[in-house]
Amino acid sequence: APVVYDVVVVGSGGAGLAAAIQACDEGARVAIIEKMPTIGGNTIKASVGMNAAETRFQALKGIKDSKDLFYDETLKGGKFKNNPQLLREFVNLAPEAIEWLASHGIELNDITITGGMSIDRTHRPADRSAVGGFLISGLVKNINTRNIEVLLETSVADILFENGAVTGVKVVDEYNDTRILNAKSVIVATGGFSANREMVVKYRPELDGFVTTNHKGATGSGIAMLQKIGADTVDMGEIQIHPTVEQTTSYLISESIRGGGAMLVSQAGQRFFNEMETRDKVSAQIIALPEKSAWIIFDEQIRLNNKAADEYIGRGFVISAATPEELAAKINMDPTALQHTLERFNQFVEQQNDEDFGRKTALRHPLNQGPYYAIRIAPGVHHTMGGVTINVDTSVLDSQKQIIPGAWAAGEVVGGIHGANRIGGNAVADIIIFGIKAGHNAAVHALS
Ligand code: ADP
Repeated sequence: APVVYDVVVVGSGGAGLAAAIQACDEGARVAIIEKMPTIGGNTIKASVGMNAAETRFQALKGIKDSKDLFYDETLKGGKFKNNPQLLREFVNLAPEAIEWLASHGIELNDITITGGMSIDRTHRPADRSAVGGFLISGLVKNINTRNIEVLLETSVADILFENGAVTGVKVVDEYNDTRILNAKSVIVATGGFSANREMVVKYRPELDGFVTTNHKGATGSGIAMLQKIGADTVDMGEIQIHPTVEQTTSYLISESIRGGGAMLVSQAGQRFFNEMETRDKVSAQIIALPEKSAWIIFDEQIRLNNKAADEYIGRGFVISAATPEELAAKINMDPTALQHTLERFNQFVEQQNDEDFGRKTALRHPLNQGPYYAIRIAPGVHHTMGGVTINVDTSVLDSQKQIIPGAWAAGEVVGGIHGANRIGGNAVADIIIFGIKAGHNAAVHALS
């Protein structure tokens, strides 16, 4: 006889784990199905943090922010393509999601900034480490204390649908055995499709050949499964390339390095753009350079303030030198040009006015403390903004905007929230906010 759950969660990234915890706490019998051998999906690679406005932690630091401003800046960053209802819900629920995490032992109480935002609202762990690992390990602790079942190396091949409602899933395990799991609610939290080159190129032919920052499970399977039961999709061609990806390892260089005060220079040793602009714009400027790549330059003070920097150094792709001259020599850059660019940048920091490119944020301190560091970067496929359509309750919608009973979706598999360009720090917010919501609604639906 098939195993019966109330809620089956497909995917063990941030959205799936948050959903499972919430559904369990509302009394549902929950299982998480994960096709990879490990938990955490692409979320575990998240670097910078979680955006939210009007939070307790901002207040503690005296940061004045507003939900409306957060909404407006996200909408502008998304080129006004964002779904207004979903975005409003996102902004409204963000502070509660920060508190939900804190009450689950996952406190994001340090705050920084990302491109396209005017205020420090990116919440991260107190030790300023990357948010992804911290978040997943905290969520996994909550999964374990609740004894929620997690089936690894098991992929959902189909969502079962009978008499107008979802009835469960068909799974295939590591031995290629197929099983049916019955459930009244299925939460699809399978992430995006950045690692599915064929699918990326189908929607954006010009991205052929780009590296991706994503884990290899980011194949978009959830989108296809939901389409089979009638789900509609939106913004499928909106694929984000992240401007700062180390090309030999496809390793993402966190926006928090620029947010900590770093600058970008071309091989000619020149700044070429406002480093704190949105990802799409910064990427386009890098691709327009003759080398189609650039250097991120930072100093010892930035390294000391950012754990990620030490991780990059450990990975062996950071070039360092005691002085700017020596650094330039090591990266085949004209030392006079780099020196001049540094002096000019430092002057802009002193006067808090970037006369060349109008950078207004993260002019934190002059880059004048050796050693100096450089990482060669270029854009890589990073996030798929498009996906299935949902309503504010995370119910999956068909092409007539009708709900598909029992089908819920949260996280990167969903389209519409980020419009044409996702702001750094908004993916973690998205997965937690809508993951909790999906868990709640899926449980209520299954238990009713
Ligand atoms: P999000 O950030 O939206 O939570 P992630 O990429 O972090 O998304 O996590 C999605 C997870 O879903 C990944 O771990 C991925 O391996 C898993 N996954 C994707 N498709 C399937 C599938 N068909 N069956 C089971 N797990 C899947």
